[in-house]
Amino acid sequence: MLGQMQDRPLLISQLIEFAAENHGDTEIVSRRVEGDIHRYTYRDARHRAKQMAEALVGLGIKAGDRIGTLAWNGYRHFELYYAISGMGAVCHTINPRLFPEQIVYIVNHAEDQILFVDANLLPLIEKLGSQFKSVKHIVAMTDRAHLPAGLNIPNLLVYEELIAGKPGAYQWPEFDEKTASSLCYTSGTTGNPKGVLYSHRSSILHAYGSALPDTLNVSARSVVLPVVPMFHVNAWGLPYSGCMVGAKLVFPGAALDGASLYELYESEKVTHTAGVPTIWLGLLNHMQSKGLKLSTLKYAVVGGSAAPPAMIETFQREFGVEVLHAWGMTEMSPLGTVNNLKHRQLALPADQQLQVRLKQGRAVFGVDMKIVDDKGHDLPRDGKAFGDLLVRGPWIVGRYFRDEGGNPLREGGWFPTGDVATIDPDGFMQITDRSKDVIKSGGEWISSIDLENAAMAHPGVAEAAVIGVFHPKWDERPLMIVVPRPGANLTRETVLDFLKDKIAKWWMPDDVQFVEAIPHTATGKILKTKLREDFKSYKLPTA
Ligand code: ADP
Repeated sequence: MLGQMQDRPLLISQLIEFAAENHGDTEIVSRRVEGDIHRYTYRDARHRAKQMAEALVGLGIKAGDRIGTLAWNGYRHFELYYAISGMGAVCHTINPRLFPEQIVYIVNHAEDQILFVDANLLPLIEKLGSQFKSVKHIVAMTDRAHLPAGLNIPNLLVYEELIAGKPGAYQWPEFDEKTASSLCYTSGTTGNPKGVLYSHRSSILHAYGSALPDTLNVSARSVVLPVVPMFHVNAWGLPYSGCMVGAKLVFPGAALDGASLYELYESEKVTHTAGVPTIWLGLLNHMQSKGLKLSTLKYAVVGGSAAPPAMIETFQREFGVEVLHAWGMTEMSPLGTVNNLKHRQLALPADQQLQVRLKQGRAVFGVDMKIVDDKGHDLPRDGKAFGDLLVRGPWIVGRYFRDEGGNPLREGGWFPTGDVATIDPDGFMQITDRSKDVIKSGGEWISSIDLENAAMAHPGVAEAAVIGVFHPKWDERPLMIVVPRPGANLTRETVLDFLKDKIAKWWMPDDVQFVEAIPHTATGKILKTKLREDFKSYKLPTA
């Protein structure tokens, strides 16, 4: 027997409708690429999103067409999220920090019909424009007065002119909730980036899951500033979940340095923020060097790479901000787990709480998770056994766009994340490594993340990365690469000495090398492939 409830599809357009009807006066504040602060409301955003949908129809866009965006976090980008997906087309967010040839590859692979581009990214597009095969229009996301001078992009359209005078009476169409809504490519650290095609259904379910109190805990009482870019897995879904709950949204534009962020946190009374660890290093440095405090910020979501313990502690102790350590992937929309302590754990002493907080967290309802050994056999949830982490659920990828790479799923619909992890009896998952970064020393595994975390607790270490390098006896041994803080007087010995009581003896790096900067991917992760290349001809002193 079937249930007898209404069969209304879950559609992204319903989010902006709901926010405009129920939180019409709630503000959306943006630091514009033009340099000033822009503020308006959910009601205004809906009107302009509808005007943009009307403009897209006028440009011949049809359901299923892909529309690319190359833009920072801002209100126009937010309007495009709703205008494009709302009309049934696919909002393809593109990371402008990718290598130019990767941008060309994914625009052509997605067959984007239009590219919407922030004013300060237009010079990049000017250079690449002739290589785009499917693009019919390029739209500058500004008004005519703010177009950069001397640009040579033929037939360039201007955002504000496209929507000017449009009625804004567009009626969002209804269609199957499994219709594609948005597209995001993985960063492609190995091989070409692959497209992950989200649906209306997956986006709405993800928004429900991510707003829950034990997830990102956003509500109509929150002021949310996503530092994580709208081109990085839809800013972890915050432009959707924010609408769903009617949170005030604050978009930081292109200025992601500590000083600019700090100014917005204070002036807009931000309560929730989200971003990758490298961003927080910049913010914490700025606040510490200027002796600043935060007056309203309560939660910082840290994800994309492991949150170093020192960062979790500093946020909490010096600034009264609770770190919500989160883990996910482009393939997971992105949220998989978030670290929120359980009632019982809040009674633990501070050092034991920190041990729990270091983990990547508990699964959100909707995400099934397990670890398996090399042969695919399930491993126990004892917090000790570690193996390949597999996930499945309604907002996890089934196939890549255009079936690139064939079927990614294992038997039973499980998606292999490429991460190696433990799961404890309380359900807290901890990543020990990416499967390709783990260091295999004499048949045993050493976690590069654990070593990096231990080193980052040293006050003189700005950043640390560990890679496995060839060793004739052990196959691989860890090499630690360190960026010292300005003025710090670090040596190989001081670093290794510091690690002594923090890690197993046989995990001790065989050497420490100092560098000025560690390379990062376009999404802020340590680029280990590049480090391995840089240290290709390096020979360990122990080898
Ligand atoms: P990209 O943005 O590089 O395309 P994703 O954002 O999809 O890639 O990256 C997903 C991967 O990032 C995960 O599989 C995991 O290895 C890593 N990751 C994400 N969050 C965390 C975290 N909190 N701790 C450790 N690793 C993380």
